[in-house]
Amino acid sequence: MFNILVTGGAGYVGSHTCLKLLEEGFKVIVLDNLANSSIEALNRVQILANRSLIFIHGDIRDSSCLDRIFKTHQIDAVIHFAGLKAVGESQQIPLEYFDNNISGSLNLFNAMQRASVYNLVFSSSATVYGELHKSPLNETMCTGTTTNNYGYTKLIVEQLLEKLSQSDPRWSIALLRYFNPVGAHPSGLIGENPRGIPNNLMPYVTQVAIGAREKLSIFGQDYETIDGTGVRDYIHVMDLANAHLCALQNRINRSGCRAWNIGTGRGASVLQVIKAFKDINGVDVKYEFAPRRDGDIAICYADNQRAVSELGWIPQYGLEEMLRDSWNWQKQNPNGFNKG
Ligand code: NAD
Ligand code: UDP
Repeated sequence: MFNILVTGGAGYVGSHTCLKLLEEGFKVIVLDNLANSSIEALNRVQILANRSLIFIHGDIRDSSCLDRIFKTHQIDAVIHFAGLKAVGESQQIPLEYFDNNISGSLNLFNAMQRASVYNLVFSSSATVYGELHKSPLNETMCTGTTTNNYGYTKLIVEQLLEKLSQSDPRWSIALLRYFNPVGAHPSGLIGENPRGIPNNLMPYVTQVAIGAREKLSIFGQDYETIDGTGVRDYIHVMDLANAHLCALQNRINRSGCRAWNIGTGRGASVLQVIKAFKDINGVDVKYEFAPRRDGDIAICYADNQRAVSELGWIPQYGLEEMLRDSWNWQKQNPNGFNKG
């Protein structure tokens, strides 16, 4: 497989994955509507890789745009990142989420079928496990209890892909269930670029550290965890990017749909993250305790043995590198990809 269509390739996980793909010699074609990203990310990816990619400014919901891409480029596989991802926003504007994440995905799968392209890697999420199970979460546990509209869109697309591959053996599909992606490329040239107030812990921590925000609110201090704060499985974005290459490799000449957890298998609490951030980067993060956030669970971490044994994927980075690289990116780019 040589020519890869990357939807949402200008975004956080997508840009790091494009870099890896270029470094490994793939031809990369990115389709992104830049709704939550900047073209500057892809400029920098090309500088880092010293190779160029093809960028198409367009939308996965635009069938004629997709048909043109498949006609022009001999696509071998698709990595599908494009979609909206803010949990809170998904409660306020559910139809936008259903349209982008579910209809958009269906539109893409239809275009793939018209072009006889059946290899797909889909960005799913640990959120599909809902709140029923006790961590470590493994892929044999049932899904289907998501607590918000964003999670619901991931679950629906997973289920559609399962059904599709059961009905049509030409499809070869990898569902990658990300745990909590953090960190940035060690150069500090690309990283996470949230618009407005960050929803996620790590960008909030680095924005407090740099003085852009006054203090972090820690959502909940009375969970049944080591110190009362929520525990998550943070995964370095470079390791996550690498998982997509491993998944592409795994899917060659295979039929069906398979899910893999992409996490380190270790949890860290919010307070542990803040303390480690200070120890590693020498910067204090001011915080206060706040009520629990709706929909949050106490503990979520992966059993990653399936990815390790089947994909040969082994995470290389620990929490220390995640915190170092997140801070390095923030320091070098106080305004993200925006200048000034
Ligand atoms: P991101 O917002 O940085 O990247 C998504 C990209 O898709 C953006 O560049 C955006 O402009 C583009 N996009 C959105 N709608 C589009 C459309 N209709 N047509 C074309 N392009 C469109 O998000 P990310 O963190 O890189 O996440 C990538 C994928 O991984 C998403 O599907 C997300 O739901 C999933 N995921 C992310 C996390 C996380 O915490 N970052 C966790 C689990 C799963
Ligand atoms: N969190 C927090 N304050 C914030 C953002 C997040 O205390 O401003 C906590 C959140 O309650 C959870 C952890 O940090 O325990 C990770 O949250 P994030 O939103 O990054 O990821 P999630 O696992 O919820 O998708």
